[in-house]
Amino acid sequence: VEDYAGLNDIGAVVEADRAHVWHHLSQHKQYETVDPRVIVEGKGMRVWDARGKEHIDAVSGGVWTVNVGYGRERIANAVRDQLLKLNYFAGSAGSIPGAMFSKALTEKMPGLTRVYYNNSGSEANEKVYKMVRQIAHRHHGGRKWKILYRDRDYHGTTIAALATSGQDQRAMQYGPFPDGFVRVPHCLEYRKQWDVENYGQRAADAIEEVILREGPDTVGCLILEPVTAGGGVIVPPQGYWERVQDICKKYNILLAIDEVVCGVGRTGTWFGYQHYGIKPDFVTMAKGVASGYAAISCTVTTEAVFEMFKDDASDPLSYFRDISTFGGCTAGPAAALENMKIIEEEGLLQNTLAMGDYCLDRLRALMDKHKVIGDVRGKGLFLGAELVADRTTKEPMDEKRVQAVVADCMAQGVIIGATNRSLPGMNNTLCLSPALIATKDDIDEITT
Ligand code: PLP
Repeated sequence: VEDYAGLNDIGAVVEADRAHVWHHLSQHKQYETVDPRVIVEGKGMRVWDARGKEHIDAVSGGVWTVNVGYGRERIANAVRDQLLKLNYFAGSAGSIPGAMFSKALTEKMPGLTRVYYNNSGSEANEKVYKMVRQIAHRHHGGRKWKILYRDRDYHGTTIAALATSGQDQRAMQYGPFPDGFVRVPHCLEYRKQWDVENYGQRAADAIEEVILREGPDTVGCLILEPVTAGGGVIVPPQGYWERVQDICKKYNILLAIDEVVCGVGRTGTWFGYQHYGIKPDFVTMAKGVASGYAAISCTVTTEAVFEMFKDDASDPLSYFRDISTFGGCTAGPAAALENMKIIEEEGLLQNTLAMGDYCLDRLRALMDKHKVIGDVRGKGLFLGAELVADRTTKEPMDEKRVQAVVADCMAQGVIIGATNRSLPGMNNTLCLSPALIATKDDIDEITT
């Protein structure tokens, strides 16, 4: 570590971290008695911490990001070459990697043609909200400005993105929030809200009820995760998506799919929505787009939406008046293009489907052994195991116990995640989302 600002031993790095870094999602009181975690190296599925301890990473960088694994020289080289050629120019101009990645990406997304570059998932979703609001002003006389979001879904950390957080704990104490964001019920069958046979259809009907309550002419957009991530790894029940698509068509509501977690291979298709045959108007993506080798997010939309911003060239307000400074960084699309090639050349979508099935079987087998696992679910290498205090009553496991399970896995060298806090309506689900390169041996190690 000699190169790091004169800190010539790892202990000094840990002390610098303790003294000066404010970690994400962390209560720092704990670091008065234990060292903050500092990760120093990664290769394939594994990372090493400051004490030299090796961990197998079952959550792809903690938050479903490093889809192609650590230490990819090909991506590093592509980024290096691009940086030396041209590192940056504002996004009002194009770039070679920006153009080439947009082309490659939209070829994987029939019906979608336009890519808007940003830096984070939150920002990608905010761009949808801004586009919807502008469309409302320009094409619906100011109506159709409301955006519906779903209980338990999450769309980001900025104030407007948090206004669409279906996870209350994340939004608490950060309000008040802007108007026009309206919640619809979640669709997790394990936590039934309706005692019916066709649960998917019923959960989607609940969205229509909210639309009718609000007034269809006030609702411009519905944003949903294809498979809910941090809200409990929720795979929508059969029939749900078809009905959602019909409802959006019926009331002329734009459908936005937040693929920040599911996108770019995580569920075994390029995008999660592609399992369900739906035709979104917007798709947002971030984390796995460049596997964390560079910051990039994309707001992708249709030519029909794009055309709405070109309708009157003489009107100075008619175009999308938005800029994201670092949306002009070329490292993002350069890394994303190489990331996509790796997924293709190494057959990682197929591997994700096969290893996902294998991992789900392993988790089901664990249910026989551990009565605290109430439910297991997932798609591809995006899996969850919901922990309960009592399997019959489905009483959620106490948060401290869940955290103890996570800490125990960590002590054994397996990094896993858990959904947030046991506030009312939120339960505790362990998250497994290893890199798409995972082998049977890796899955065995993680699930033993
Ligand atoms: N959307 C989903 C589904 C997410 O899980 C997240 C982050 O976890 C976001 C959006 C926000 O992405 P970012 O943290 O890059 O702003």
